[in-house]
Amino acid sequence: MTTELILGADIGGTAVKYVVLAAEGDVVAEGEIRTDPADPVDTLRRLAAGVAAALPSGAGRLAAAGLACAGIMSEATGRLGRSPNLPGWQNRDLGTDARAVFRDQGLALANDVNAAAYGEWRRGAGRGATDLVMIALGTGVGGGVVCGGRLHLGARQAAGEIGHTVLDPEGPLCNCGNRGCLEAYAGASGIARRAALLAVTPGAASPAFRSLVAESGQRPDAAALHGLARAGDATAIELFAWAGRHLGQAVANCVNLLDPDLVIVGGGVARAGDFVLGPCRERARGLIMAQESRDVPIVPAALGPQAAALGAAELARDRRGAR
Ligand SMILES: [Zn+2]
Repeated sequence: MTTELILGADIGGTAVKYVVLAAEGDVVAEGEIRTDPADPVDTLRRLAAGVAAALPSGAGRLAAAGLACAGIMSEATGRLGRSPNLPGWQNRDLGTDARAVFRDQGLALANDVNAAAYGEWRRGAGRGATDLVMIALGTGVGGGVVCGGRLHLGARQAAGEIGHTVLDPEGPLCNCGNRGCLEAYAGASGIARRAALLAVTPGAASPAFRSLVAESGQRPDAAALHGLARAGDATAIELFAWAGRHLGQAVANCVNLLDPDLVIVGGGVARAGDFVLGPCRERARGLIMAQESRDVPIVPAALGPQAAALGAAELARDRRGAR
């Protein structure tokens, strides 16, 4: 009997990361191809060809594919909503595009952070949970919710946008145009903006911090700021603590609403580890109403940059009932 394989792909603005799983879940191939942000059909064709070339001969045949994209992805219509990094993909019926390439294979479509949450739930930091919240701190901030043992998509497939929950309507401007969203505090671009502000505020920043911000052209990345925090720089440590306290506020809101088994924090900013998660836990603990929920684990993600591709594959696998 031919082994059935499942493809999972995370379609970003510059690259598509993919994994291929065997029916029992082992990764049998993985790789990356270039995204054409203007042309989904060409990208999906090259993805199929790249996957075929990457599979060891006799590995099996693709039986299902899961595709994850940034933006609101409607499984019901196959349509991807606003997706600034994929201008040629947005407002388009990707279900039809994908079926033209993947033909008789089962198809699952998902938002990228929902897919990452699913991946962490099935095979990462959230294994065994029934309810979890995942928050991904990238350039922006995304979220995913597993509720009652199911990925919660919402009535219009737009659930989980934790990054745009407002913590302070008078707060800093967010990429979405509102003020004081979690993303404006805990996303990489919000942190960079805060760093640039501290660097020019008299007496607010250490000399090392000011020079790092100047060398980066006022756009320091989270990794460089993390390096400075690790070296003991008080300004960098306080900057991550500021992000962490706001994250903790958002986590408390999620816990008060959903009472999850755990909260998973992933994305590039989360690599700053306890510089962010320590203040986050402390703030969340102070704001969570139910005493029973105050010690909810707030843990780093386990799957790294492949989380969304793995989650998309797991979604496609579960849809097939292979599990
Ligand atoms: Zn926002």
